[in-house]
Amino acid sequence: MTDAQTFNGIDRLERSDDWGVYKTLLESTKAIPWKIDWQTKQFDYIGPQIERLLGWPRDSWLGAMDWIERIHEEDRERTANFCIRQSEQGVDHEADYRALKADGSYVWIRDVVHVIRDGNGVTTDLIGFMFDITERKEMEDKVLQLNRKLEALAKQDELTGIANRRLFEQTMVAEWARARRSGQQLSLLMFDVDYFKNYNDHYGHVRGDDCLQRITEAISAMPVRSSDLFARYGGEEFALVLPETPADAALQIAEKCRQLIADLQLPHAMSPNGSVTISVGLCTMVPDVTGDHVAMIERADEKLYRAKRNGRNCVCA
Ligand code: GH3
Ligand code: MG
Ligand code: MG
Repeated sequence: MTDAQTFNGIDRLERSDDWGVYKTLLESTKAIPWKIDWQTKQFDYIGPQIERLLGWPRDSWLGAMDWIERIHEEDRERTANFCIRQSEQGVDHEADYRALKADGSYVWIRDVVHVIRDGNGVTTDLIGFMFDITERKEMEDKVLQLNRKLEALAKQDELTGIANRRLFEQTMVAEWARARRSGQQLSLLMFDVDYFKNYNDHYGHVRGDDCLQRITEAISAMPVRSSDLFARYGGEEFALVLPETPADAALQIAEKCRQLIADLQLPHAMSPNGSVTISVGLCTMVPDVTGDHVAMIERADEKLYRAKRNGRNCVCA
């Protein structure tokens, strides 16, 4: 074989001037080819596949305005401005947007655009392909939603549905730092169910779990500020973070919590109180440079155990 051209398939097609082959190739792909004359902004060509994808008749695609008008309202300005700017500057580009179908629904399109320029660098034509990326976008959305769910789950206590210890610690770090900046008082309340080991031994673990849920519901129903955080610290111990709350206000909230649980009158045969009660420890601080949130948790915990020593079903501040 001495003739190098016999190896070059593309050359052979061009020489045979077989536009029909190109056309068949272009119009049998899922991607939709198109060409716009940049001077007139009119379509020179658009693949017939456009009708199958969007439902609008092929001959309804006259110019760039028909394209712009069929972009989802929320994507229109951003997409049109971006594509016009890139085209004017002679830069190839890609744009993702939702395109309106004739039936009123939308599909996600990725438009991949090549800009053709004349010898002076002036844009003369745009050619491109539209890809239907709806499935990919839906998958991306699902992954995003799943991630959000996972993130929320990672901060939630499984039994009670309230914040878990991890979120509690994160919140304490953030609120400690915030209160240190603002000079505001930060209050932390911790409570623990009295004689809960006896409760479990007597009523069983399942009833024990129910009891923890009832306690959670009662405290959750209490009106609190959006910046407050109610969390399960672990086992039968809970915490309430109260930003910008002075000692007297925090003491009232602590007493209210204790009262709420006593008022539930959940029978507890193995408690001298006859019903389920809690002991509450309370600590209020204006954070300074010497301490940290861990020390504050320890102090609230100390108060809690003093409440235990003081006979339980009481608050110690
Ligand atoms: P105190 O009044 O001093 O707090 O005594 P207590 O018996 O409540 O304290 P202790 O720490 O001895 O026992 C805590 C018990 O709480 C141990 C365990 O049986 C029970 N407990 C901890 N977590 C759970 C839980 O998730 N579900 C159930 N059902 N019980 C739990
Ligand atoms: Mg206990
Ligand atoms: Mg305990």
